[in-house]
Amino acid sequence: MKRWIMHVDMDAFFASVEQRDHPEWRGKPVIVGGKAKRGVVATASYEARAFGVRSAMPSAKAHELCPDGVFVAPRMDVYKRESAKIHEIMLHYAPAIEPISLDEAFMDISGLRNHYPSVDAVGRAIKEEIREKTGLIASAGIAPNKFLAKMASDMGKPDGLFIIPYGKEIEILAPLPIRKLWGVGHVTEKKFIEMGIETIGDLQKTPTNVLKSILGNQAGMFKKLSLGIDNRPIESRRVAKSIGDESTYETDMTDENEINRQIALHSDVVAQRLRKQKLAGRTISLKIRFASFRTVTRSITLEVGTDLQEDIYEAAMKLKEKIYFTEGVRLIGITASNLCPPVETIDLFSDKREKQSRAERVMDKIQDLFGKNALRRAIWLEEEKRKNQSDEKEK
Ligand SMILES: [Mg+2]
Repeated sequence: MKRWIMHVDMDAFFASVEQRDHPEWRGKPVIVGGKAKRGVVATASYEARAFGVRSAMPSAKAHELCPDGVFVAPRMDVYKRESAKIHEIMLHYAPAIEPISLDEAFMDISGLRNHYPSVDAVGRAIKEEIREKTGLIASAGIAPNKFLAKMASDMGKPDGLFIIPYGKEIEILAPLPIRKLWGVGHVTEKKFIEMGIETIGDLQKTPTNVLKSILGNQAGMFKKLSLGIDNRPIESRRVAKSIGDESTYETDMTDENEINRQIALHSDVVAQRLRKQKLAGRTISLKIRFASFRTVTRSITLEVGTDLQEDIYEAAMKLKEKIYFTEGVRLIGITASNLCPPVETIDLFSDKREKQSRAERVMDKIQDLFGKNALRRAIWLEEEKRKNQSDEKEK
């Protein structure tokens, strides 16, 4: 299996959060962290970058360049919460991620390759889910390793999705300035330039023993990176504790059949995600938020962990019976937690469960081969009809 690493990097993260939360600032140069004149800029919106404002720039300089900019104090607690949300979304797709800052993280998407028609499609799905659930734009880079993935996410910004395919590493790296190479700071950059190495391509052509005299034992590492070789693994600092799926509806839902169907749909998504990550959940939770924003969560712990839609749906329907529905529903969510490896010993299952298990796995396989729409539960067809109808209404 080919290794594919994705690097997710939020565009102008702090400034974008501020513009999302303050619509009156959209389209304006927003500078986060520049409020105190002796401070430094944490993030500048793209509008502010047009004036030459950059992060880490002294605030006084930013005020000079962009006197009419919107200067705001950072709200770190809000950014941390958004960051956690983004990590949670990434964990829907990969069993482990490696965050490197609040707005950047790596994930290994090799295993997902079989669930989507292409690696681009994986990238699009993750970007789309981040946009949908946070209102923020992520750029993504997908490549054979971490170094190249980080390089790639930078290449498409903003709102980028850039893939460096196998075999193209050397060609794509060659024209880039040497400072783009991982680990090259000002001092090393100077050393390279003194040697006549200005681009990564120049480094590719320089024999390692020539490099050794100047760079010592770092020579080999830089040479490898210049050729696009980087075998570092994902160092997972966050592992999924739960797998969930929820939707907020445009209009409050009152029809009981509709509510049941939404529970069935979310159960299906959660089950598929569990199977993708080779996990099962023992605790199933149902979250309902009503029109008044009253939110009720109920959980049940099963004897054996499950990765089947039928089980999750059944558990969620039991939980639903414990909730009084006195007003319209604005959000429904299903979560599986208490994660464990799926039970594979078939003899624990009754005949019926064995059949279900086989059916759901066959469905996964067919979707892998022919795409998501090849074979889906009938409830998904009804969902599409419902969505089309509400689109029609909007028109
Ligand atoms: Mg960023």
